[in-house]
Amino acid sequence: MKKELTCIVCPMGCQLVVDLDEHNQVRAVDNANCKRGVAYATAECVAPMRTVTGTAPIVGGGIVPVKTDRAIPKELMIDCMMVINETYVPADAPIGTIIIENVLDTGANVVTTKDLHGVN
Ligand code: SF4
Repeated sequence: MKKELTCIVCPMGCQLVVDLDEHNQVRAVDNANCKRGVAYATAECVAPMRTVTGTAPIVGGGIVPVKTDRAIPKELMIDCMMVINETYVPADAPIGTIIIENVLDTGANVVTTKDLHGVN
């Protein structure tokens, strides 16, 4: 079975064609201009990962943008967003504050991406 993917590792956006066997294992990756594309396509077919971005509520009102500091399994994205939505951030948190350690046992932390220190 052939599967087509756009590589998102760099701005070139190569159109990859992945050849999968009957067990969904990667036999070959075509059209990749570099090894990073082959690694991306292989991971995407076997165990897709994503960095999660979103917003968390601030104590006292408002929201702050946050993200995971590394990619987590794609199937946990919605659960991760739900945890983020229920986690209140201190109103004076500096950028990079870890608001959730090891979210959903993924090894990733959720951190703020905007400086609130001195804003409120
Ligand atoms: S295959 Fe390599 S060159 Fe092509 S988009 Fe992916 S990282 Fe960039």
